[in-house]
Amino acid sequence: MTSSSAHTRRDFLAVVGTAAIAAGAHGSPAHAQPPARPVPAPLDATAQLLKALSEAPGPPAFEEEVRRIVVAEYTALGAGIEYDGLGSVIATLPGNTSGPRVMVTAHMDEVGLMVQHITPDGFIRVKILGGILEQALPDQRWTILGRNGPVTAITGLRTTHVTPPSQRGVVWPLEDTFLDVGATSREEVEKMGIRPGDGIAPLSEFLALPNGRYAGKAWDDRVGLGVMIAAARRIRAEGVKLPAQVLWVATTQEEIGLRGAQTAVDKARPDLGISIEAGVSADYPAIGPTQAQERLGGGPGIFLLDSSMIPNRKLRDFFFDVAQQAKVPLQPNVLTGYGEDGAEIQRYDSGRPSVNMTVPTRYLHGHTGVIQRSDFDGAVELLIQVLTRLDGARVAALASFAP
Ligand SMILES: [Zn+2]
Repeated sequence: MTSSSAHTRRDFLAVVGTAAIAAGAHGSPAHAQPPARPVPAPLDATAQLLKALSEAPGPPAFEEEVRRIVVAEYTALGAGIEYDGLGSVIATLPGNTSGPRVMVTAHMDEVGLMVQHITPDGFIRVKILGGILEQALPDQRWTILGRNGPVTAITGLRTTHVTPPSQRGVVWPLEDTFLDVGATSREEVEKMGIRPGDGIAPLSEFLALPNGRYAGKAWDDRVGLGVMIAAARRIRAEGVKLPAQVLWVATTQEEIGLRGAQTAVDKARPDLGISIEAGVSADYPAIGPTQAQERLGGGPGIFLLDSSMIPNRKLRDFFFDVAQQAKVPLQPNVLTGYGEDGAEIQRYDSGRPSVNMTVPTRYLHGHTGVIQRSDFDGAVELLIQVLTRLDGARVAALASFAP
């Protein structure tokens, strides 16, 4: 540590010169104290839940840490817990045994990497699990889920001092990407408990930002799990009566092709499905309404089209009607290049009404996404309001195509 920080300082001096350092970056004297850091406000129970969900590592097929949180939360609410054969969790709250079967679902996995090969000099080559832009790979911190516990790794960046001008705007492709765990040989990496096939998750700390905004990794789809758990907490705490049997389903392996949802629907046998997802917010520079239409602070969203399904139109309109009655703003979103677990519910058996409700999210599938608390709270409220209205007659009417 000492030698690397010494190098950093020497490089910096070589570039900017000592006079700038002596004057300080903002012209203050060199001996001035750094500004006091603002003390962050304490997190409430919901924000603590979101922080825990966001920071848990869980690339596809390596969802253990997330599953632990989901099972603990639903068990604390008195729920019965079942699992499908791919590790999805199906929770049922007590006293909820009659009426149509409504599957509320979010996925536990996040985009990540897998150890492919360890080089003789101790670097780790990887494959991608899920959709990650190659430009999001370098210069990041990661958690390798090895057999002796988690190991922190970094993807380095080619040093600017040795990069020719023609290469400075060029992104390192996946084939050139590698992880560095501080080892000097393959044997050392193996002694850390790392071997080919191990899952790798982004490493990124939760941050509370102004305007009730939360920065963190894996909002896709930990924010959906958060909505499910927060809604179940409220239903239990407030004694909300539901006319349906609600199956709270946390799926696996969504990011590599909705695989957990495909098996979980066979276990849940839903009459109707509500997928809860990270939406695609398009309210920052370089992205606009021809890509996506949600924005932070505009309330939860409903997808009218994605690449995996067109939702049941009656159920979609039902969400807008309930949102209006409950005074929850609801945003439509139309985009492609995005699939979600609702599609597996839609195609279950002979077909079921299904919809995808979202919490708008900026920068998803990167190390730091941003959500807004008011959108999250709106999604929880709307979900509860919808569930209280889904009785047998309503579900039958939504599912009917009789002219
Ligand atoms: Zn997702």
